[in-house]
Amino acid sequence: MTIQWFPGHMAKARRQVTEKLKLVDIVFELIDARLPMSSRNPMLDEVIHQKQRLLILNKADMADETQTKKWVEFFKAHGHEAIAVNSLDSKGLKRVTKAAEAILKPKWDRMKAKGMKGRAIRAMIVGIPNVGKSTMINRLAKKNLARTGNMPGVTKAQQWIKVEKELELLDTPGILWPKFEDPDVGYKLAVTGAIKDTIMNMDDLAIYGLHFLEKHYPNRLYERYQMTKVSDEIVETFEHIGKLRNVRTTGGEIDYSYVAELIVRDIRNEHLGKLTFDYVEDYKEEFDNKDK
Ligand code: GDP
Repeated sequence: MTIQWFPGHMAKARRQVTEKLKLVDIVFELIDARLPMSSRNPMLDEVIHQKQRLLILNKADMADETQTKKWVEFFKAHGHEAIAVNSLDSKGLKRVTKAAEAILKPKWDRMKAKGMKGRAIRAMIVGIPNVGKSTMINRLAKKNLARTGNMPGVTKAQQWIKVEKELELLDTPGILWPKFEDPDVGYKLAVTGAIKDTIMNMDDLAIYGLHFLEKHYPNRLYERYQMTKVSDEIVETFEHIGKLRNVRTTGGEIDYSYVAELIVRDIRNEHLGKLTFDYVEDYKEEFDNKDK
């Protein structure tokens, strides 16, 4: 699904999320573990305001484990509870309920102290497209979707999925836009496939990928493409990879466009291993300044 984020669409998306927020106790902010900063919505803080939040680093199975651990610690140090999960693995998702309970415990305790009856926590998932919202909802739902809206004569209102006795989840997620005004973020979202349809040029993406990998994961890059460095004349590196993989046009020339595609595909399909494109060390300074 391609979503064109024009200002009108953004305003509508924001309104829809704001409406749903009224129904829940906590927001599950889904982010891509490979891009814990670049896959966040720039306005979410404003939108969710004081609402409790759990940051969920999804697709952790595709990300660099060392970086994921550092990111979870980093978010906690800045006041956000965070967990890393793989939505394709239903077992690991039990931690979502546990984390939500821990966050809301003080509020629930206060309510109980006032003599109010305990009830299930109500939550909603929010995130940019393709981050795994539907997958997570479906996995959490198992067979517990309350299908009231599907019965004849029943209006389709918000439906709640009973995840556990203690947790109910809104069946539709809140969709928000990414921070694409920053070109670096655009490259990262596109090169990982976090955004599938993109106006970005494949050659540029491949070049971005090569330079990023050389900086952060040089050994994997050199091993995969049997080379010792990315050439200052990038065309030489393309030529080398093209020869290595025998990527040629019918006329026998190196097919540079296809080489670019191959590099991007290798990155997206984990042929260069589990990669994180937002390096926590690159963000520390920015955050430390904000906290001052
Ligand atoms: P949505 O647009 O946020 O609802 O994203 P989807 O749920 O449609 O997921 C987008 C793609 O990511 C799909 O191909 C999913 O199978 C995949 N996906 C979702 N969660 C995970 C995960 O934790 N790990 C991996 N490897 N893939 C995931």
